[in-house]
Amino acid sequence: MIPDYHIHTGRCGHASGGMRQYAEEAVKKGMGEIGFSDHIPLYWLPADRRDPGLAMAEEEFPGYIAGVLGLRPEFPSLSVRLGVEVDFIPGQGSTVKSILSGYPFDYVIGSIHYIDGWGFDNPAHLEEFGRQDIDEIYEKYFDLLCAAARSRLYDIIAHPDLIKKFGHRPVTPPLELYRRAAGAMAGAGVCVEVNTAGLRVPAEEIYPSLDFLRICRLEGVPASTGSDAHAPGLVGAGFSQAVDLLREAGYSEVAVFEGRRRNMIKI
Ligand code: ZN
Ligand code: FE
Ligand code: FE
Ligand code: ZN
Repeated sequence: MIPDYHIHTGRCGHASGGMRQYAEEAVKKGMGEIGFSDHIPLYWLPADRRDPGLAMAEEEFPGYIAGVLGLRPEFPSLSVRLGVEVDFIPGQGSTVKSILSGYPFDYVIGSIHYIDGWGFDNPAHLEEFGRQDIDEIYEKYFDLLCAAARSRLYDIIAHPDLIKKFGHRPVTPPLELYRRAAGAMAGAGVCVEVNTAGLRVPAEEIYPSLDFLRICRLEGVPASTGSDAHAPGLVGAGFSQAVDLLREAGYSEVAVFEGRRRNMIKI
């Protein structure tokens, strides 16, 4: 079975269950490899504006890392990787590097959840979709995605067309934006994440779309896989569909990471 590299834990304030339960679920499903990638503390905000329902506090970060590493001896049949999901905020690269330094990460996932401070994937802030032109929103989103890929902060770019989450889409598929994003990921050597959480939201489609993933394949972008589980039962959710999508797009392998070095395994 393919690895699930996008797993959250109760620490983030909007997921249920402890780490051990996620690992137990993976074993139950016969998986050989998982990785935790909980949300990094909201490093770019002043301390009094860090919503505990969005990410763990800064002082919890060492405990998160110790928790992941501590699972390894408990689950000898499971490869447990240490990852983290890090919001891309322009201009914050050196802060990110200093927060992550000194810890033995296997991979770092980069994601775009904010456009100029607007948390567009938060159901509480959807009204903004009615205020801006959808083509301009997409353009801004994909500009950030390209900048994230080029930042060299990341090994994987998460849910690459997250902007479609609530079903807001341009009239015609934005193929030119997909090409730009795929070119940026290929140029930087970062993976595109095939993330099954899209199946569980109004978009009802894996991130990225088949169109987008095909373009990634043509550009030579490696792929990784994740469920974005925020509950233990969701580990590995939708993975047979993810494999179908990967094959349909022309992929025959996916990435695994150890100590931020990538290897490919057959699917
Ligand atoms: Zn989350
Ligand atoms: Fe995310
Ligand atoms: Fe996530
Ligand atoms: Zn995510």
